Amino acid sequence: MHFIQGKGQSDQHEYAHLTLDNGLTVILVSDPMAERSAASLAIKAGSYQDPAQHLGLAHLLEHMLFLGTEKYPEAGAYQEFIRQSGGSHNAYTGAEITNYYFDTLPASYPEALDRFAQFFIAPTLDPKYIEREINAVDSEYRAKLDDESRRSNEAIKTLYSEHHPAARFTVGNKETLGNITAEQLQDLLQGFYHRYYTPENMALTLVANQPLETLAAYARNYFDAIEKRTTTNKPPLPSIVEHTGKVQLFKTKTEKSIVKFSFEIPSQTLNYATQPARYLSYVLGDESENSLFANLKQQHWVQSLHAGTNLDDGQHAFFTITMSLTEDGVEHRSEIVERLFKTIDNLLRSPISQQYLAETKTLSALNFEYHDYLQPVKLSQILSSRALDIPAEQLMASFHISEHASEQNIRNLMNYLQQDNLIVQWQSNKDFPNDWIKGEVTWATEPLYDSQYANGDLAFQQTDLIAQSTLPSDFGLPNANPFMPEKLDLVAQNLTIDPSIIDAKKGYDFWYKPNTQFNKPTGMIFGYFGFLKNPDTRDRLLLQLWARLFNDAAGESTYQPYMAGLGYELYTHSNGLTLRTSGYNDKQSDYFYSLVEQIMAFRASGKRLEIAKQDVLKGLNNLESQPPYALARHYFSQTAIKGNAPVNVLQELIGKITVEDVNHFIDQHVQRFQYVGYMTGNFRRSDAEQLSARLNDKIDTCLHTHAYRPVELKNFGPQQNYLYNFDTSSADSTVLYSLIATDNNNATYTQRAYVRILAQLLGAKFYNEFRTEKQYGYIVAVTNQTIERTPAIGFLVQSPNTSTQVLVNEIERFIQSTKWGEKDVSDKEFEQARQAVLAAYMKQPTNLKEEALEEWPHIVEPNHNFNDRKEWITALEELNKLDFLAFMREKIEQNQAARLLITNNWQNTEAWTALHIE
Ligand SMILES: [Zn+2]
Repeated sequence: MHFIQGKGQSDQHEYAHLTLDNGLTVILVSDPMAERSAASLAIKAGSYQDPAQHLGLAHLLEHMLFLGTEKYPEAGAYQEFIRQSGGSHNAYTGAEITNYYFDTLPASYPEALDRFAQFFIAPTLDPKYIEREINAVDSEYRAKLDDESRRSNEAIKTLYSEHHPAARFTVGNKETLGNITAEQLQDLLQGFYHRYYTPENMALTLVANQPLETLAAYARNYFDAIEKRTTTNKPPLPSIVEHTGKVQLFKTKTEKSIVKFSFEIPSQTLNYATQPARYLSYVLGDESENSLFANLKQQHWVQSLHAGTNLDDGQHAFFTITMSLTEDGVEHRSEIVERLFKTIDNLLRSPISQQYLAETKTLSALNFEYHDYLQPVKLSQILSSRALDIPAEQLMASFHISEHASEQNIRNLMNYLQQDNLIVQWQSNKDFPNDWIKGEVTWATEPLYDSQYANGDLAFQQTDLIAQSTLPSDFGLPNANPFMPEKLDLVAQNLTIDPSIIDAKKGYDFWYKPNTQFNKPTGMIFGYFGFLKNPDTRDRLLLQLWARLFNDAAGESTYQPYMAGLGYELYTHSNGLTLRTSGYNDKQSDYFYSLVEQIMAFRASGKRLEIAKQDVLKGLNNLESQPPYALARHYFSQTAIKGNAPVNVLQELIGKITVEDVNHFIDQHVQRFQYVGYMTGNFRRSDAEQLSARLNDKIDTCLHTHAYRPVELKNFGPQQNYLYNFDTSSADSTVLYSLIATDNNNATYTQRAYVRILAQLLGAKFYNEFRTEKQYGYIVAVTNQTIERTPAIGFLVQSPNTSTQVLVNEIERFIQSTKWGEKDVSDKEFEQARQAVLAAYMKQPTNLKEEALEEWPHIVEPNHNFNDRKEWITALEELNKLDFLAFMREKIEQNQAARLLITNNWQNTEAWTALHIE
C-alpha cells in the first residue's frame, strides 16, 4: 500500500493505493467525516464496445449484474440488502466506461462489499431475467424520447464518421437487443464480460471512516477472487468527423434557438497537468467587460455562451462553443459568426498572455485546495473513473493545473479552431439559417427519436469573414481579474457559535455567526428585502421580472468575481427578494455592499424587458414539453398552494406589462422595505459590524415592516376527491395521487414524522409491484408531499402502456389492500424505516453553504425555529410502532384524508371535484 500525496489544504481524508495480485488497481480513502461507507468499481469499456448488431449490450450487461450471482443467486437480493442497510446503489454505462457504486451504513459495509464483489467474480446472467431487463432498457430509451438533448445528440451523430462508435445508438431498445433469443444474448453478454471485465481493465475505490489498513484488508478479502484474465487491446479509433465544414439544422420541439460550433481537437485526457484547453475556454467563455459574450449580449443577440471540451475518446475530442440566441440574434447570425471567428483570430495573433495563464492556474489551484466535501459515494465514483486513465500516484495532482502549458502546446491547440475541423448544429423550432447551407436544404428524419434534421456544407468561409472584418485586433480579449482572493487565513480554528443579532431596530435586523469548522477561508452573506404586505398576481410577476432583469444586467459585473470564487444570487419570495453572496471571505463584504448599491440604483431598459418577456413566455409555452412526472409535481404545488395564477392569466398579464410599469414598481418599493441581514463563516465580529453600519447608512430612510410570508395551503375537506387534469405533449399517462391530512395544518413533528416513515415503508413495496412486477412504467415512486405543516403523501406513476384510469384504480387497490394492524408491519420493518428516516435528519452539513442555507429560513421567519432539526430527531427517536399504526388506521383505513389527483388524459369527472390554480 502506498500513500497518495498532493491532497487539498482543507481535505481531511487520507488516500492510498495498491494493486492486487490479479492486477486490479485499488484506491483507498479514509474519510473521518463519512456517515456512510462507499465503494465504486469502474470498467474501461462501455457502449463503444457494443457489437454492431446488438447496440446497447454494454448497458444491458450493467443491468444484468444486479440480477444474481452464483454466491447470491436471488435477483433483487443485493438491492434489498443495500436498502435495508440504509444505503443506495446505482450504475451507469458511458461511451468507454461503466461504473457501479453503492453506499451503506458502516455496520453493513463488509457484507455489502462481499455481495458487490460477486458481480465481478461470478454473475449468473440468468436468461430468465434477460427479457425483463430488455424491457427496462427499452423504457429508459422511451422515457427520453421527448428529451431535447437526447434528440439533438442522436441527430448530430449523422455528421460523425460511420467508422466511429460515437456515431451509433448507445442506450439500446427492444429492436437492437430483442432480435435474438435470451440464450444467444446470454452468450453475447458472457463474451463481453470475459473480454472487457478483466482486473487490469478496472479500478476499485473504497471510501469509509476506517483506517487505510482495514480498507486494504477488505479489498484483498473480497476482490482478490476476481479472475486474472488477459486484456486485449482495443483498436485505435478513427477521427470522430470524417467530413468537416458541415452544418446541421435541427428541429426542436420547444421554442429555442441554439447554435453549437464544434471543432475537432486532439484528446485532452492526458494533459491534466497543464490543461492547455483551459486557456481557450477561459478566454472564449469569458463574460466580463470586453469579452465576446459581453459584446454579443450588449447587442441583444445572445443570452448565454459556453465554451469547453467534450466527447473526449482518448484520441480525439471536440472543443465546443454553444450560444443561445435571441430573435434579433437569429437575424444577425452572420455578425455573430464574424465576431466569434474574429475573437479566435485575435487570440491566435496575440502573444500567449501570461496573465490568462496565471489566472487559470490560480483559479484551478484554489478550487482544488478548498474544494467542497464530497459524499463518499460520489467521491468513490470520481476516483475509480479517473484511475482508469491516470496513474494512481498522480490522482490528486490530476485535479488541478500543476504547471503552465507551454506556448507551443497552446498554439498547437489553437490551430485546430479552423473551419476544416468544424461542424455546426443549429437547433430551433422555426428559424433556420438556410443561407448557411450550400444549395438546397433537404430535411430527413432521424428514426430513433423521430426528429427532423437537414445536413449540408457550410456556405460561409471563416477566412473571408476574418479578412472582411473591421473589428479591432483586441476584440473579445478580456482584462485582468481584480477579484482574486489574497487573504486566505482563518480568523480562528474550528469556531462555531449560534447565530445572534448584532444590530436591530424597526424594520432591520442583522445576524452574525462565526463559523470556521470546515477549515476554509470562506463565508456567506444574506440580505432579505421584504417589499409587500399582500402581493397579488401582478405584484408577484413584477417582482420576478425585477429579479430577472437585475440578474440579466448584473452578468458582466459579477462574472469576474464569480470566476475568482465569489458567487451571488438574487431571487424572489412571495413578498420580497433575497440577495446572497458566497465564496472566499476576502473582498466579499465589499462585493455584497456593491450589489446592494446596484439593486437600489437599477432600472430596467425597454429592450431588455422585451427579451425577458420573450423568455418568460417561452418558459410558459414550453411547460407542456417537460417530463410529465415533473409536470405532475409542478401542478401539485400550483393547485394546492394559494396565490398561484394559471398559465393563460400569466400570458395575458405579461403581454401588458411595460417598462414604465416595471420601473414604477421598483421606484415604489425600493424606498420602503424590511431588511434582514446574515453574515456567517470566516468573518470577525468587526467585519459584520462594519458591513451592518454601511448598510444602515445606505438604507436607513427606507426601513418599514413587511415580515416574511410563508406559503399558504388551500383548505381541503375530509373524504373529498379533488382533480386537476393537465396537458402535456407526451403520450404517456401520468398520475400523482396524493392523500392530504385535512384536519391538520399545524401537525406536530411526530405526525409529520409518521408520513416520512409511511413513504419509506411503502416505497419499496409500491416500486416492486408497479415497476418490477406489473411494469407499468419507468417512473414509479412514493413521495413525501408535505407542505409546511400539512402532512401529505403521493403515489407517482408515469406509464407508456397503461391508461390513467387503470393506474388510479391500481393505486387505490394498493392503498386499500395495505393493512395497518399490529401484525401487518413487522417490528424489524418499522425499525428499519425509522432508522432510515432518522439517518436523513442526523446527516450533518458538510460545508458552510449547506449549513447557512439551513439556518437562513429560520433567521428570516419571525419565530426563528433554530431547533427544527433537533425536534425532528427527538420525534423520530421517540416514535413507536403502535402509535404509528393507530394514526394510519385513523387517516388511511378510515379515510380521514382528502385525495388530490393530478393527472392527464382523464375522462371520469363524476367522482372528482375539479380544482383550479388560483
Ligand atoms: Zn439503465
